[in-house]
Amino acid sequence: MTTVMWFRRDLRMVDNKALARAFQDSEDVLCVFHLNPEQLTQEYSSSQSAFLQSVEHLRQSLAKEGIQLYLLYGELEESFDQLRQVLPNWTDVYFNYDEAGYGRLRDQRAATYFRTHGIKIHAFQDHYLHGSQDVKNQFGKAYKVFTPYYRVWRALPKEKPVSVDLSFARTIELNQDPETLKIFNRLWEPLSFYHPGTEVALTKLDSFIADKLENYQVQRDYPSINGTSQLSSHLRTGEISIRMVFDAIIHYIPSDAQETFIKELAWRDFYNMVYVENPRQKGEAIQSQYKDIEWDNSLDLFNLWKKGETGFPIVDAAMRQLNTTGWMHNRLRMITASFLTKDLLIDWRWGERYFQQMLIDYDPASNIGGWQWVASTGTDAAPYFRIFN
Ligand code: FAD
Repeated sequence: MTTVMWFRRDLRMVDNKALARAFQDSEDVLCVFHLNPEQLTQEYSSSQSAFLQSVEHLRQSLAKEGIQLYLLYGELEESFDQLRQVLPNWTDVYFNYDEAGYGRLRDQRAATYFRTHGIKIHAFQDHYLHGSQDVKNQFGKAYKVFTPYYRVWRALPKEKPVSVDLSFARTIELNQDPETLKIFNRLWEPLSFYHPGTEVALTKLDSFIADKLENYQVQRDYPSINGTSQLSSHLRTGEISIRMVFDAIIHYIPSDAQETFIKELAWRDFYNMVYVENPRQKGEAIQSQYKDIEWDNSLDLFNLWKKGETGFPIVDAAMRQLNTTGWMHNRLRMITASFLTKDLLIDWRWGERYFQQMLIDYDPASNIGGWQWVASTGTDAAPYFRIFN
């Protein structure tokens, strides 16, 4: 059995379902990361740089264990054709699948390819505490608003972290094509404000629990206080698993703060489910009556908003935080999104795309979900005239 472990947004060696099983089941394992030009931009994007910096970090961490992370670059099927040439005995593939957005379409294409070539698929739901099909109402339908979803979500048992034994199997090493490595290195630049890796994530989790959790439900409302976990970029790359975060938090004495934090983790699952239910949500309003809003869309105002030069101090501070650190406090994401859509009357899709370019924690489901919630075109039960002051 010759296995490929295909890493995606699960860039860690601990508590990784696909990785654990690949090493458990297989005799020979090759670890792979695929760079798909369809997903990459040549323009400056702190979001892309951060993600690829995390890939590089994983590559180096695996190398320390004597394991190669083999990079592929190119169109999906062509890349796998190339891989089959250098790995002719390839029989099995392991990966943690995506349920929504581009990742879902990519996985469907990949599945067709693997079936055609007789490669056995082992796919796992790893990125969320509960996948999109786990939480349904009494009629077996998906929830449209968060509160009833959360009640059901909270009562469901949660999976424990799984252990990964890297010593189980032999790993395969191939000659890395130098051209692919060159392309990879050109696609990102090290960001001084970005610190990737599982160790960094675990340290943040520990210090959040030790210093911030107790007052989380109050302090998370104040953007000037460093009162949240700042784990989002690590959850986005998968440098830390959602099971590890939940498991660490749930062991603490039950409190309002703990419940508030757990609720935030549930929002992440909720928005994934919403994206599965509304596959076109990146381009169009979830609520059909808001599909044809006539936005003012002033390019000048949009540019001032992007630069943090609107003259509204809290909006400008928030946008400058985004531009210089790639991260923005949740309350400020709400304020800046509300200001763009409801004060400047600019299409939420413009804002969503700018966040996609800049956020080191960019996650399509949460970002689109957040933007549509604030713009009142999405899952918020409150009507369009709610405006953040
Ligand atoms: P904490 O308060 O410590 O929360 C812990 C974790 O819970 C976060 O890391 C995140 O994974 C999850 N979480 C918290 N709040 C939310 C939420 N409202 N929706 C979904 N998950 C949540 N989050 C992203 O991860 N990526 C995005 O691209 C993103 N875009 C957003 C855009 C808008 C307009 C809005 C309003 C929110 C967006 N969020 C996004 C959600 C939220 O703002 C961030 O997850 C949070 O600010 C990250 O900081 P933290 O890790 O310190 O959060």
